[in-house]
Amino acid sequence: MAATALRMGVVGGSIAGCAMAIAGLRAGADVTVYERSNGELQDRGLGIVIPPALHQELVSARYLDASMETAPVGARVWVTRKPDGRTAHEFGRQPSAVVPCNWGMLWRSLRSRAGDVRYHRGLPVTSVEREPSGGALIRTAAGVESYDIVVGADGHQSVTRELLAPGLRPTPAGYVVWRGTVSPSAFAGRPEQLELLRGAWVTVAFPRGHGVFYLIPTAPKRAGGAGGERLLAYAIYGYPPAPAAGRRQEDVATYVRTLADEHFPVEWADVVARGEHLSLMCHPVADIQVPRAADPPFLLAGDAAAITRPHTASGAVKALQDALCLERVLRDSTSTDEALRRYADERTAAGAHLVELGRRLGRAQVERTPEWHTMGPADVDTWSRAVLDGATSYLFGGLGVEVRE
Ligand SMILES: Cc1cc2nc3c(=O)[nH]c(=O)nc-3n(C[C@H](O)[C@H](O)[C@H](O)COP(=O)(O)OP(=O)(O)OC[C@H]3O[C@@H](n4cnc5c(N)ncnc54)[C@H](O)[C@@H]3O)c2cc1C
Repeated sequence: MAATALRMGVVGGSIAGCAMAIAGLRAGADVTVYERSNGELQDRGLGIVIPPALHQELVSARYLDASMETAPVGARVWVTRKPDGRTAHEFGRQPSAVVPCNWGMLWRSLRSRAGDVRYHRGLPVTSVEREPSGGALIRTAAGVESYDIVVGADGHQSVTRELLAPGLRPTPAGYVVWRGTVSPSAFAGRPEQLELLRGAWVTVAFPRGHGVFYLIPTAPKRAGGAGGERLLAYAIYGYPPAPAAGRRQEDVATYVRTLADEHFPVEWADVVARGEHLSLMCHPVADIQVPRAADPPFLLAGDAAAITRPHTASGAVKALQDALCLERVLRDSTSTDEALRRYADERTAAGAHLVELGRRLGRAQVERTPEWHTMGPADVDTWSRAVLDGATSYLFGGLGVEVRE
């Protein structure tokens, strides 16, 4: 299909929005992006892990700059605290090739590749509507514009999703994730942890929870050196403190320090409890899946279409794959309706797979954890296969199971 005359409006200009804009541009559409936030999205920081094959595909397809710094590693190491003390017990080591990225650098790279689109910053979309002619309207404080297709890339509280799946709400997991970035100076005097992280990402397992730690390239605003500088990123999953009179939201965010002190081997606890944090936030874990990812002239991408529990490390991965899919179906279909139908078939299934995988991983790694300290490497492999139960995940790529990404 020649998408040359196609007018495409994109609601949201974050990872999914910029990637979908590139897809539209590459398929020949005339693209306009509306982003609510007025600030530089790169300052959101934090770490994002993607599979090596997807990273290569995005560089080859020119969605990402080859020069964007990443911090690839090839293995996953499992540690827990010995029950009789505070020292670490390494109980598993699996091949697991991942490409950790700095969120801000990833966004900046996508944003620069989408350079030729109209990108309205600080312009929230107030509503999206169907036109009787078959097109769609995007309404903002600046006026109303008409499009042939509208992409909802507006994240977890998507107005576009509300039009396609009214009343659909997230399903809470019942636990939270603390997400932080810490200066590697937190490892002063512990070079072996830093050395371990240069080749692997590390899971610190504890009863009813776990944390994952990995290095990411330093945020752009701290760069300026020769490159190669790293930050330590973590995501720690567990249960928040019981509600108590006078407990404030800040106390819940900093409770991760208590949790780490109580459950982690001392070297990992120190990083969380006493490391110099560049960011620290706490989110409830939840998931959501639309019944269908497109209904012409609308389609949904990224978190607007499906949110998986973050154990899959695949929300941004899915957003990027959504974009690759959109470009392909726009190029290969004979009409917009056919392109969006094909998009919906493929991406609804991908979202459902990830939502189910996230639940499976959440049950095994948070809700009903095994006796980690009794396990050894062979037990971790057997347990991982049982948890996946035939599902696929690039995080477990070394287990000999088929990897879909
Ligand atoms: C702890 C944690 C760890 C994670 N780790 C990984 C990982 O390792 N790998 C991975 O692939 N994924 C990971 N994810 C998931 C990933 O962060 C998200 O899936 C991804 O960032 C979603 O991108 P998005 O563009 O769809 O949504 P968002 O980044 O939320 O962007 C939505 C955009 O839409 C804008 N917007 C909203 N409403 C409007 C409106 N009305 N008008 C205009 N603009 C609007 C917002 O301002 C925002 O910029 C993780 C998530 C969490 C919570």
